Amino acid sequence: MDDATTSEANSVDRTDGDSAESAHISLPTQHRATGGTVYLVGAGPGDPSLLTVRARTLIETADVILHDALIRNSMVDSLPSGAVVHDVGKRVEYKTPQSEINELLVEHATAGDAVVRLKGGDPFVFGRGGEEAQHLAAHDLPFQIVPGVSSVLAAPSVAGVPLTHRDVSSNFTVITGHETPDKEESALDWTGLSSMVKAGGTLVILMGVRTLDQNVSALREHGAAGDIPVAVVQKATWDGQRVVTGTLDSIVQTVQSEDISAPATTIIGNVSAVREELAECQQSL
Ligand code: SAH
Repeated sequence: MDDATTSEANSVDRTDGDSAESAHISLPTQHRATGGTVYLVGAGPGDPSLLTVRARTLIETADVILHDALIRNSMVDSLPSGAVVHDVGKRVEYKTPQSEINELLVEHATAGDAVVRLKGGDPFVFGRGGEEAQHLAAHDLPFQIVPGVSSVLAAPSVAGVPLTHRDVSSNFTVITGHETPDKEESALDWTGLSSMVKAGGTLVILMGVRTLDQNVSALREHGAAGDIPVAVVQKATWDGQRVVTGTLDSIVQTVQSEDISAPATTIIGNVSAVREELAECQQSL
């Protein structure tokens, strides 16, 4: 495979259709948000049509909604006007302290509000959902965890990269790109990850755009071949969705020259090459 980059602007203007489409979904009354309870809700990768019906029902019936930075602007704009909305995102310019988010959850639930904590993707995948649930449990407050479509699954799908494939890969592993190999307390086993990729397995990296070079170097140093295919999916299901592809040896340069930015998900392994067979016929969502 050469290091030709496929860079696609398969972005579609979705902003107009968001609220009109949601109006057609009937929302089950038994899933309505109840006062005094916190709902840790996965919002999916961004496109409102990938919200679950339960998530949509909870959003429509919440008194208070706390959302993170991964919630697309069009989704934030369509939140019900009757709810108090807190943007508690962690962004480069300002990261809302976790302690503040925890306090807000407890404060509102204790006051009897029905609280939706809306998180990108799935609340239990790198979203501190576990910590928030622990905090609520420590305060004896009832909560529900509502799964969402994680970017772990959505980014490869929209890019035409099957995470597993009978002839190519029988497993996938998901890591955070933040645990860079030079980090003293890194909990990742780079020898094991490289062996897994060498054996044909799939490695998915979240939060890894800025640290891609370090992670790729670590895999190479631990024996992963330079020609292993890689796909990077920026803003899956958002306006601005783009996919670039290459190999372990070429991808860092490609990501830089194509100006790929967060949020983006990287998929390393032979499955990334399958997309070449699919790209022509796969329609964007
Ligand atoms: N709980 C989220 C992940 C939070 S960590 C989930 O399940 O999806 C944030 C990382 O998720 C980002 O740095 C990026 O790697 C990935 N991500 C989130 N939304 C994305 C999207 N729309 N497209 C590509 N990657 C995304």
